[in-house]
Parts: sequence; C-alpha cells; structure tokens
Amino acid sequence: MIEHFDVLIVGAGLSGIGAGYHLQTACPKKTYAILEGRGAIGGTWDLFRYPGIRSDSDMYTLGYNFKPWREAKAIADGPSILNYVRETARENGIDQHIRFHHMVKRASWSSENAQWTVEVERGTEKEPVRFTCSFLFMCSGYYDYATGYDPKFTGIEQFKGRIVHPQFWPEDLDYKNKRVVVIGSGATAVTVVPEMAKDAAHVTMLQRSPTYVVSLPAEDKMANWLRQRLPPMLGYQIVRWRNVLLQMYFYSRARKYPEKVKNYILKLVQKELGPDYDLTQFTPRYNPWDQRMCLVPDADLFQMIREGKASVVTDHIESFSEEGLKLTSGRELEADIIVTATGLQLRVLGGMQVTVDGKPVELPKAMTYKGMMFSDVPNLASAFGYTNASWTLKCDLTCEYVCRLLNYMEARGFTMCMPRRDPAVAEAPWLNLTSGYIKRVEHMLPRQGAEAPWKLHQNYALDMMALRYGKIDDGTMEFSTPDRASMRTQESIRAAA
Ligand SMILES: Cc1cc2nc3c(=O)[nH]c(=O)nc-3n(C[C@H](O)[C@H](O)[C@H](O)COP(=O)(O)OP(=O)(O)OC[C@H]3O[C@@H](n4cnc5c(N)ncnc54)[C@H](O)[C@@H]3O)c2cc1C
Repeated sequence: MIEHFDVLIVGAGLSGIGAGYHLQTACPKKTYAILEGRGAIGGTWDLFRYPGIRSDSDMYTLGYNFKPWREAKAIADGPSILNYVRETARENGIDQHIRFHHMVKRASWSSENAQWTVEVERGTEKEPVRFTCSFLFMCSGYYDYATGYDPKFTGIEQFKGRIVHPQFWPEDLDYKNKRVVVIGSGATAVTVVPEMAKDAAHVTMLQRSPTYVVSLPAEDKMANWLRQRLPPMLGYQIVRWRNVLLQMYFYSRARKYPEKVKNYILKLVQKELGPDYDLTQFTPRYNPWDQRMCLVPDADLFQMIREGKASVVTDHIESFSEEGLKLTSGRELEADIIVTATGLQLRVLGGMQVTVDGKPVELPKAMTYKGMMFSDVPNLASAFGYTNASWTLKCDLTCEYVCRLLNYMEARGFTMCMPRRDPAVAEAPWLNLTSGYIKRVEHMLPRQGAEAPWKLHQNYALDMMALRYGKIDDGTMEFSTPDRASMRTQESIRAAA
C-alpha cells in the first residue's frame, strides 16, 4: 500500500521543522509527513561537530519568527541551536510526523493524478518505499551531506600526521599541544582556528586569499535587557526587526560605497591587531558582500592572533610533505594535524531526480519563481535562505507563502499550480556571490530572472511584501484541476501522433 499525504516535506533541519510548524498552524486540515534521510533532527546543526561550531549570524534572525530565542548569546553555539530546533519539534508535536532514515531519491509528477510519487530508500538496507503527495516541499538544505569539497592536493598521501575535514570531525581527535594548520579562511576556518588555538601548540590559518572578517559581541545587551522586561515575543520581535534593518542598511551601504565600507572594516581589524600588523592578510581582492562576510564573536580570532597562539599565512599549497605543507613561496609549514576547511559541495533538491509527466526536469534550464519554486514544475517548493542575511528569515516567508498557496487552491478546488516560464524575461545567475563553492557548480544551478516574480531580491522587506502580502494569482502562477479523462485522451492522441 502506498501512503498518501497532502504535503511531504523533505528534511528535518531548521527549515523542515519550521515548515511543519507553519503547515500545521496555517493549514491544520492538511496531512503531512517529514522524510529525513538521517536518524536525527537538526540537519546542519546535528551534522557539524567541529570545535567551536556556532552560528555566524544572530539568533534573533536565524531563529523562527514564531519562537523567541531566549539564550543570552546571540551568536550561539551549535548545541544550543540544535536544542532550539529539537525543542520546536517536540513542543509542537512535529517530531511525530518525521520518518527517519528515509532518503528521498526520486520524485515523479503525474498531471493526470495531480500528485507526486516519491521514491525513498529506507534504512541501512535501502529498502525501496513509495509515497504519494499532492505537494512536495523540499527543505533539504543546500549541500551534500555525504561529501565535503576536497580539492586534490599533490602528495597528500605522504603526510604522516592526521588530516581532518570539518564536516566529518573525529570524536577522538586530540589536538592538545599539537601544531595545527587549517586550510581555508571561510566561516568554518575562522570558527575552528580560535577554538583550537586555546589548546593547540599553535594554529596557522593558511589562506589562498583573504576574507572580510568582522567582529560582533556574542551577547546582545539590548536583547538581554529587553528579555528581562518585556513579554518574550515582543522583545524578540523588536530585536529581530532592529537586526533585519541594520543588516539591510549595512548590505546596501556595502553595495553602494564598497571602498568606504572596505576601509571601515579594515580599520576595525587594524584596531584589533595593532598598527604593526600586516593588514593585507585581511584585505580581500573583492568588494564587501561579493562573497559572504565572516563574523567572529567578541573578536576571538583576533585575540588569538594577538596572543601569538594563531597566525595567518596567505600562500598557495604546492604539495603536502611528510611533515606538513610546501607552499609556492618556498615556505614550509610543519603540522601534526591539517584541517581542510575547504568548504561544502553544493547540492539542490537533496540530490533528488525529478520528472514531470515522464520528462526529467533540468534545473539549469529552470528559472526560480519568488526564489522558492521552479518554472514549469508543478506543486513543488524549496526552502532556500538568504546569502546576505539569516537563512530562516527567507524560510519563514517561504513557508507562509506555501501555506497561503495551499489554502488558495483548496478554497477554489484547484489541484495543480505551476509558475509558467515567460521566455521574454532575461536570465541571470541564481546566486549573487562570487564564492568558489558557488562558481564551481553554477552550471548545475537554476537561473533567476531579471524581474519579479523571477528575481531573487535577497531582501527581507521586499520578500515580505511579495510572499506574505502579494497576490497568489499573479498572472504567472497557473492554476488548474486536470481532468483525468481528458488528459488520457490527450495522451493517446499524442502517442498516436
Ligand atoms: C557550519 C555551518 C554554519 C552555518 N551557519 C549559519 C548561520 O549562522 N546563519 C545562517 O543563516 N546560515 C548558516 N548556515 C547555513 C545553514 O545550513 C542554514 O542556516 C540552516 O541550518 C539550513 O537549514 P535547512 O533545514 O534548510 O538545511 P539543513 O540543515 O542542511 O538540513 C537539511 C536536512 O535535509 C535532509 N536531507 C537532505 N537531502 C535529503 C534527501 N534527499 N532525503 C531525505 N532527507 C534529506 C538532511 O539529512 C538534513 O537533515 C550554516 C551552514 C553551515 C554548514
């Protein structure tokens, strides 16, 4: 027997649990299940276990709009975030809807039945199981869980020490008094370096090119003050909006006046590291927000550099050696442990194969609609966060929109909705960052359009207008109730032709 649900959510991370909450709140009559490939709730916040794992945005915007963040630290550690996601699932009964160890492999849409057939591998035996659903909501994150990005380094097999990728941190790794080299200077590297430096003999952050690093207080004094005096939701919403507006302000300043913002950031770094520090180590070749900025709480990275426990080297790796790394400058870095913080392997729709009426969907040929659906793909949405602000801001709005869409269709008896591609709308790359991990897979990603509703705003206020208040029937989204008999006739005519 094939189980049917009104909605199937794929993924029980921050987005999937949020989607469950919105769905059961705004569409209480809809049946739903969450299919999760792993054996735990939390996604990213359960997978990553490297030392110091934390958010790099504040929890007032990374938290859900419906559940106040109550901890003192605004830049929170991984276990606290995991606890927040699990608590949300538990206190709302969302955990009862999760099917663990259900890895979704394929989804096939049938217009005749107005439903998806979802093929799953269950458990370690990979037992094939099928579900059907009327709407498929992908909350599967944006990267491959099975592999990180591992550039092919020459001579890696010669190294006598230990090599560790942050995505697969070994529980038994003892780095006390060891010499550590961390390859990379992204969000993971700037987290792991100061944390390991507390116990290691020395940690070197080896970067090919610098990244913008900005320090913020880990605790938000105003938020903590308000929490003591106002009802939790009121205080939370005030701080959330303040942070949203500040982020939008800084982002727009960075885009309009890149030189000014660059100088401002570098001045802050110089203040932290002193006048004699070689600032080129923190001076990227690109403008602020061409790539995601790195945030460090309470200047912890700078503190470790000041204390001589950590240092930064900008160079290229020629090869690994028995003792460590040989760099193109001729310099050698000796190490007991090398951490390859070289990044993630991007992946959309959880690596699932998708067909619509037997035809494979080619994502690079599709255009994203409101940053959450794909042109000519019916009844499917995907939760994908911002590149310049917290992930959950966009996901909450996406969930609200999906619920409005489902209720709209229910009220009018429609069973199918599909954003119809307008060939006149010019294409643009989907994501507006120049980061390596995006550029590497750009050819596999969908496109965005030059104008609404195909344009990705990366702006919470604009998205709120479009997703929370915008018209559902906007002239681009097509609604229908396919009539089985006439579809069968059309199909046989097509087959005969
Ligand atoms: C180390 C790290 C730190 C981050 N810090 C921040 C931050 O501070 N601020 C911010 O805004 N963003 C941050 N991000 C981005 C972060 O991933 C999101 O904020 C958020 O956690 C994503 O939640 P998600 O539920 O959409 O995806 P995920 O957390 O990736 O969860 C996806 C879930 O879907 C499951 N899944 C995937 N494919 C399938 C499939 N085919 N079948 C079944 N299940 C599947 C996975 O097992 C997983 O449980 C960070 C990312 C990383 C890696």
